[in-house]
Amino acid sequence: MHALLQRQLRRYLDGIDLTAAPWPAFLEAVDQSYLEAEIDRNLVETAMEISSHELLQANAELRGLVQAFPDLILHVDADGRITSCRGRATRAFAVPTGGLVGHELRTFFRAGEQAAFDDAMAAARQPGAVVTVEHTSDDRPPNVHEMRLAAIGEGSVVAIVRDVTDARRTEDLRLAKEGAEAASRAKSAFLANMSHELRTPLNAILGYSEMLAEEAPADMREDLQRIHRSGRHLLQVLNAMLDIARIEAGMVRIEVDAVEVRAFAAEAIAAVRGAAAQKGLTLDVVVGPAVHVIQTDRVKLLQVLLNLLGNAVKFTEQGHVTLDVQAADADGQPGVTFAVRDSGIGIPDEMLARLFQDFVQVDESNTRRFGGTGLGLALCRRLCGLLGGRVGVESTLGSGSTFSVWVPCDGAAAAGRGDTPSVPAERVA
Ligand code: ADP
Repeated sequence: MHALLQRQLRRYLDGIDLTAAPWPAFLEAVDQSYLEAEIDRNLVETAMEISSHELLQANAELRGLVQAFPDLILHVDADGRITSCRGRATRAFAVPTGGLVGHELRTFFRAGEQAAFDDAMAAARQPGAVVTVEHTSDDRPPNVHEMRLAAIGEGSVVAIVRDVTDARRTEDLRLAKEGAEAASRAKSAFLANMSHELRTPLNAILGYSEMLAEEAPADMREDLQRIHRSGRHLLQVLNAMLDIARIEAGMVRIEVDAVEVRAFAAEAIAAVRGAAAQKGLTLDVVVGPAVHVIQTDRVKLLQVLLNLLGNAVKFTEQGHVTLDVQAADADGQPGVTFAVRDSGIGIPDEMLARLFQDFVQVDESNTRRFGGTGLGLALCRRLCGLLGGRVGVESTLGSGSTFSVWVPCDGAAAAGRGDTPSVPAERVA
């Protein structure tokens, strides 16, 4: 029998014979009820224990969430006053984050932003709505915060304040960069078209000045030849500018072929043999044993090498010009280095870094003495970039220079990944 029932029988029915009818049946029914009540009580207690444990856990989770929350959380009452403030401190307001409670949130907005804030608050008070409004601080440059507002009942609103200053600046920079790139492409496309327009009349000037020089009396011949020479120089500049502009405008595509390097090097050297012989220079080509076939744009690589070999011959009065071709890895990528070595006039140290920029010549009197445009190396740098490679220089003033071009063995995979037109060329040993 239930202990409590036993105590109560002793207290209230003491002296009564409980073995006689109808007591036994009655007492058994009551005892059963007591037992069931006991079970129910135990169940309720267990349930309460569990739910209070869960409640504690949920509380701890919520605390953790608020602690880790990257934004500031404000509660704003129906009158627009801040009633609580949790989460991350912010540089949005003139008042330190700890002192925000009690202030009217609206007063922290600039006069020009208050109307937008009022509209956002009114919209956010609609059930289920989440409204975003922007807040700009008075700092120079201003910090920008995004405030997300949502109703939490009885006219109150929760405001999540997020600092988006850095994100906005990054976005602005990205847009500015995109704008600059688009402008640069437009400029290059314009230049490419203009160069076409300029070349047609120039060809007429060249043709007529040459023809007239042949037939003109001796006193006029020299002037006509001068016109012809200047025209030719102008055409060189135009051709180089056209090439550069076409690359910058993204109009030049890479055509990758299997290039047998030994034969290719011999072909490049053969192109400058006449000019070298005229100056009495020794011309050599050395190809390392590990160099065989590479995948690259043959025409563009040849254009680069002819430019470097042409310069080497041009700026060397006596001695030698050597093309040295060796297998060489760069950044773990297999490739080939073509080094053009000369015993010429050399280049002063301070000029080396600028040499690959447009229109740079070491000595402007070079133009008169040696000819040239100051665009050849700039074009080489861009062409190498298209091939996924790079070009560099080492030189000692008075004793010679080495211009080196490195290209990857697999130009199809690497094309365009090399030195981009806007990045100065690296020096290659
Ligand atoms: P350019 O048409 O004037 O040769 P480049 O861009 O090819 O234009 O070369 C730029 C300048 O770099 C040259 O004017 C010259 O001063 C210098 N330069 C290039 N190659 C050599 C070299 N092998 N030796 C000495 N100076 C060189």
